This record gives sequence, C-alpha cells and structure tokens, in this order.
Amino acid sequence: VFAHIVRAPEDPILGVTVAYNKDPSPVKLNLGVGAYRTEEGKPLVLNVVRQAEQQLVNDRSRVKEYLPIVGLAEYNKLSAKLILGADSPAIQENRVTTVQCLSGTGSLRVGGEFLARHYHQLTIYIPLPTWGNHPKVFTLAGLSVKTYRYYDPATRGLDFQGLLEDLGSAPSGAIVLLHACAHNPTGVDPTIQQWEQIRQLMRSKALLPFFDSAYQGFASGSLDADAQPVRMFVADGGECLVAQSYAKNMGLYGERVGALSIVCKSADVASRVESQLKLVIRPMYSSPPIHGASIVATILKDRNLYTEWTIELKAMADRIISMRQQLFDALRARGTPGDWSHIIKQIGMFTFTGLNSEQVAFMTRQYHVYMTSDGRISMAGLSSRTVPHLADAIHAAVTS
Ligand code: PMP
Repeated sequence: VFAHIVRAPEDPILGVTVAYNKDPSPVKLNLGVGAYRTEEGKPLVLNVVRQAEQQLVNDRSRVKEYLPIVGLAEYNKLSAKLILGADSPAIQENRVTTVQCLSGTGSLRVGGEFLARHYHQLTIYIPLPTWGNHPKVFTLAGLSVKTYRYYDPATRGLDFQGLLEDLGSAPSGAIVLLHACAHNPTGVDPTIQQWEQIRQLMRSKALLPFFDSAYQGFASGSLDADAQPVRMFVADGGECLVAQSYAKNMGLYGERVGALSIVCKSADVASRVESQLKLVIRPMYSSPPIHGASIVATILKDRNLYTEWTIELKAMADRIISMRQQLFDALRARGTPGDWSHIIKQIGMFTFTGLNSEQVAFMTRQYHVYMTSDGRISMAGLSSRTVPHLADAIHAAVTS
C-alpha cells in the first residue's frame, strides 16, 4: 500500500548535516545547522545545566508523572518573566498566559493553530527571507503566509523602507512574524529607533505581532537588551504573541523546551485564551516533556545559577563575535575581493555571507565546507583553528 510513495527531499538545513556526515574528509566543516560548538568544535553542555540536572537527580521526591497540558506552572511563570521583564505590568496584571511547548518550533505551531481557530485574520506576514521552517509551520497551522521585504542584498542590511511599505499596505489586523533579535538567516536586526517606528506603524494598523524569540541573550550577550523589542510592544498595552526557545541560550536543543506567551488585554481574556490553548495542545501531544522545563526552572529561580548562566551565555555570544572578527581579518589578509564588513556588523549566530548557491556548491565540493545554499554560515560552528580553512574556501570561491 505504500509502494507509490515518492521520496521527499531532505530538509534544506538538516540535510546539510546528512551530507556532512557522509563526507570522509578530515578537514570537513559543518556550518549548516545553528548549534553552538566550543573552540574544540564540540557540542557544549552548560555548567549550570549540569548542576541543575544534578539537583534534579538528587531530589528523590521528584516523580515522572504527566505534566498538565500547559506544562510546568513554575517554568511558565519564569519564562514569561525572562522575556517580558520581571517588572512587566502585563505580568503583574495577570494579562499573560504562558504555556510550555516543544521548543521554539512547537510554540510557533501552537500559537499558529490558536490564531487559525480564533483570530479574525488568517494572513501572517513573515520576513523575506526567514527561517525556512516558518512558512511550513504556519501553513500547516492553517494560516495563509505572505512575506514582507526585510533584507536588501545590495546593502547587506535592512530594507527598512521596503519593510514599512509592505507592512503599511498589509490588511488591517494581519499577523506579523517578527524575529525578536538575531534575525535568522540574515543576522540583520532593526535598530531600536526602527523598532519604534515598526511598533507605531503596526499599532496604527492593528497588525498583530507574533515574536519568535529563539536567540535571547545570544545576540548581544544581554538577556534584557535582546528582549527589548518585545518589551516595547508589551509596554504600549497592546496584544502580542511570543514564542520562546531555550535551545540556543541554554544549549538545550534536544530537550525541546520552549514556551508560548500570549499577552492579552485583561486577566479574564488571558484565562479564556489559555483554556483554548489547551484544546489545541491536547489532541496534538497531550502534554509536554518534564525534564527540560525542570532544568530551566531550576536555573531561573536560583539566583546563583541564574548569574552563572548569564556569564556562560555571554561567553558563548562573545566567542561568536570573536569568530566574526577573525573571519573578517582572515579575508582581509588574503585580499579577498569585496566588502566583507557585514561579517562583523551582522548579529547573532549566523552570517549571511552573500555567497551564491554556485559558490556554496564549489566550497562544499573543493573544500568540504558545508552550509545552506543561501550562503548562510553558522559562526558558532567555527573556531580559531578552522577560520583559515573557511577563509581559503571563500577566497577561492569568489576568485575562481
Ligand atoms: N525560530 C528561529 C528563527 C530559529 O532559528 C529556530 C532554530 N533554528 C527556531 C525558531 C526553533 O528552534 P527550536 O524548535 O529548536 O527551538
């Protein structure tokens, strides 16, 4: 009965790792998937995560019962505080409902399905370009996906005029997906002044903000600074949605721990919204897993662990920033043609190099450097040892 099934294409991002794993070359370099690596090229489990896990293991009172549909209550409260700020009036007024979801992806999906069922506008505008999973997640959630201009290849920066024009001509009430910080794949974020203009425009047209916060703390090294755009939209008293992920900032990728917060106009509305979120979640996966959320809650509620986390997070962000400088310097030293200053200007885990798909294919073939075909490289996968090889590959690709 399954003989007719055609082979589906590999996921464009995860497929890069599949190809990398098959390559026997000792110099191969995987800059495809956005996962942090140490200077030694190894995955990193944060010290605070190890400590939190130890505490959890030692606590014999802990059991493995099901969590409620909305997840761990303490984790949800702490997650809302982390993104919205401990002194957020919306939290104090109980206008926020937060549900634990399966990392950032699951939070986006649950938020998308809730909107498809209960919101009056089914169109969501996503930036062009954006994380490749966004259009699929929202389409399957039942929304209709359109794009707004975001990146200008000519300046390798923000197409701010295009963004304002496209959101300005979106129908009133449309949903707008915004990357809270460290835009993936471009590494280009609006300035705070530009965010303020975006906010004013969106509020004047009653556009509904849906923030994707997958990199809080990873862009600047400061959890508060990276949350500022979200907090600006909450401070004006309007509604918004926020999908959070702890994959990158706590290195909990495989634990699948995230949260969806919906900021409402009143406590009563928030509690009704939560009741409907439960109806979205229950038939999807019943309830979320307990381990990752327990780790996060343990860290966020303990002052010492929290402080230690911020230090480890800053160290990861700083290492990435230093990789940017080293790659930029290496290209300059080689006299590679072109302006590469965007490498040091862009923010977060990725550099959008501007290399085209033929150049990427050349680098993979000749230099065993693996990256997505849009020219995006994960700076977190680089180290001082591998920068020269990447610089050689880029140099050869643009001069051959
Ligand atoms: N949004 C963006 C912009 C991302 O880059 C990612 C991860 N690559 C996610 C959401 C979701 O990641 P996860 O489901 O692993 O939290």
